[in-house]
Amino acid sequence: MKIHEYQAKELFRNYAIPVPGSQIAFTADEAVKAAEDLKGPKYVVKAQIHAGGRGKGGGVKVVDSLDGVREAAGQILGMQLVTHQTGPEGKKVKSVLIEEASNIASEKYLSIILDRATADMVIMVSPDGGMDIEEVAEKTPERLLKVHVHPTVGIQPFQIRKVVKFLGIPKEGMKEAGKLIANLYKLNMELDCSMVEINPLVVTAENRVFALDGKINFDSNALYRHKDILAFRDTDEEDPLELEASKYDLNYIKLDGNVGCLVNGAGLAMGTMDIIKFYGAEPANFLDVGGGADAESIENAFRILLSDKNVEAVLINIFGGILRCDLLAEGVVAAAKKLDMKIPLVIRMKGTNVEKGKEILAGSDLEFAVAETMKEAAEKVANLVKQPVA
Ligand code: ADP
Ligand code: MG
Repeated sequence: MKIHEYQAKELFRNYAIPVPGSQIAFTADEAVKAAEDLKGPKYVVKAQIHAGGRGKGGGVKVVDSLDGVREAAGQILGMQLVTHQTGPEGKKVKSVLIEEASNIASEKYLSIILDRATADMVIMVSPDGGMDIEEVAEKTPERLLKVHVHPTVGIQPFQIRKVVKFLGIPKEGMKEAGKLIANLYKLNMELDCSMVEINPLVVTAENRVFALDGKINFDSNALYRHKDILAFRDTDEEDPLELEASKYDLNYIKLDGNVGCLVNGAGLAMGTMDIIKFYGAEPANFLDVGGGADAESIENAFRILLSDKNVEAVLINIFGGILRCDLLAEGVVAAAKKLDMKIPLVIRMKGTNVEKGKEILAGSDLEFAVAETMKEAAEKVANLVKQPVA
């Protein structure tokens, strides 16, 4: 789960990570009121959306008066902000963070990410902050340092010293930077984050160290033990189909292709997506209905798949274990009728009661293409979609 910058900064404050004074506002009037409570005369008005690159897209404006705050807030609130992370349609801005402007001497990069390959935390830093870290990694990899921290050992003082030194923090700011890094690591562990990022981490002309931006992603599987963080969820920022799927405990992720996939088990779902691509088509989604799926979850899954306008054909690939193939077949027939399905469907099933399942499909007056193997199923469905999307 993602949260907004202003929420991340609230958490930073709880962990004594220095941030400039700021307040959230939903209207231009509120923005001016917020600024009046802050230290002026320079303020920054920042669009709150779940995407980075706001500065380049016109969603971050530095102003030097209260009138400037009103004007900038008026411009940014309600705008459809397009950044390299939003896609071409952009995101509608509902709120702005009004922040005291920092007297920036230099911008650095700092993040802590869960590294699945090494099963530990990796602290990533660069003295070249404020810009795309992907670009730094590609063009000047020597300007990026990664320090692995084992979760049972925790972050060690020598690692903090190494990171602070690499960042090129001036002597006067070293202590504050060291504390900030230790506190950020604590936050990351205690709140079950999958990533925390401060870009830019700034050193001011007065040698203070501040988190000027804040991005936090949480491990959704751990959110049950962080009710206060769950309250930060902003469903307006989520994909509507993914949101709908989450209500029924379906693991659904929307993709850009045109073959809808309904599969049980994450491994089988990934294998199915791979083989669809192998035969020249593109999956429209990842969908794992889970091992214990019943007729009702099949219907919900079906409905979500079909409401994606890009879907031109559907492939159902089910291994009948807990979910018996005859029950699946009944569920599919019922759902297809109820939803008045118009697009072609390919079904491949294996496992418990598969013969009975096939009889049910054959006995219905709906048209299905049945496949024996994954290869056959993928080939069939790839031929059904007119043009694979690029
Ligand atoms: P994004 O990463 O989405 O573009 P940031 O919060 O990183 O948004 O802001 C973009 C840039 O705006 C920063 O790199 C910094 O140069 C400037 N900026 C942001 N907040 C402040 C602030 N409080 N004071 C001065 N400059 C700021
Ligand atoms: Mg940033």
